[in-house]
Amino acid sequence: MFNRLINTVKESDNICGFAENRSSRWQECPNAHSGNYARGIKNKVLEKLFPPRSKEQIASARKKAIKEIAEAEEIRLIPMHFMCLACFHKGRKEPEPIEADLLFEVWDKIRRQPDIPVRIVRKNCMVCSTCRLFDTKRKMCVRGGKIGAELRQLHKELHVLQRTGLKFGDIIPANELFSRVFKEIASTYEICAYGSGQKTAPEWHVCGTPENEEYYRSGRSAGIGIKLT
Ligand code: SF4
Ligand code: SF4
Repeated sequence: MFNRLINTVKESDNICGFAENRSSRWQECPNAHSGNYARGIKNKVLEKLFPPRSKEQIASARKKAIKEIAEAEEIRLIPMHFMCLACFHKGRKEPEPIEADLLFEVWDKIRRQPDIPVRIVRKNCMVCSTCRLFDTKRKMCVRGGKIGAELRQLHKELHVLQRTGLKFGDIIPANELFSRVFKEIASTYEICAYGSGQKTAPEWHVCGTPENEEYYRSGRSAGIGIKLT
């Protein structure tokens, strides 16, 4: 999220202040024209405030997470990943692990145990802990990435929950969950691309590209390779 912000907004003058102040009722921030904001960006203040995790930290998180998934009696998933699992699967016979996150490991667990209970969570999703965009304190995706950051993600997730008649906190067998998702949601376009493909602001990201759409359709048609109810 912050990366997108600083790539788009280079100075604060016309966001926190005005080129011309026409009314005393519309106050500027006293720092609007100070240059503090641009200096902070130049000095990489965000990396100091939110230091990225090292390769070693991510490797250690991966080891821990794989063990946790292997031993788990239930899977924790954010609703976005119900659909992302189909984009990841792409209808393949033999999906392979990816470096970025734990979609493969979660998928493999569900493949082996299709009726494993899935707890629908707002944060601390089992897919996320090795992702470079994962915030380890808040245990959620706050920095943004190709699928968009926290508010955009929540926006999509509420649509997924509304379409499937589910809520955060529900626990549902995986095969029943994916049956509902694939019955109710045929396309990424409607959830991940506003039904129009139009992005209106950097933070309100679109991830339902034609390529993703094809991946999702293929993963959905294959029922992500598990026995659905
Ligand atoms: S289009 Fe992007 S956000 Fe949407 S389901 Fe696929 S990977 Fe996830
Ligand atoms: S942290 Fe964000 S981008 Fe990374 S896997 Fe989780 S939801 Fe996806």
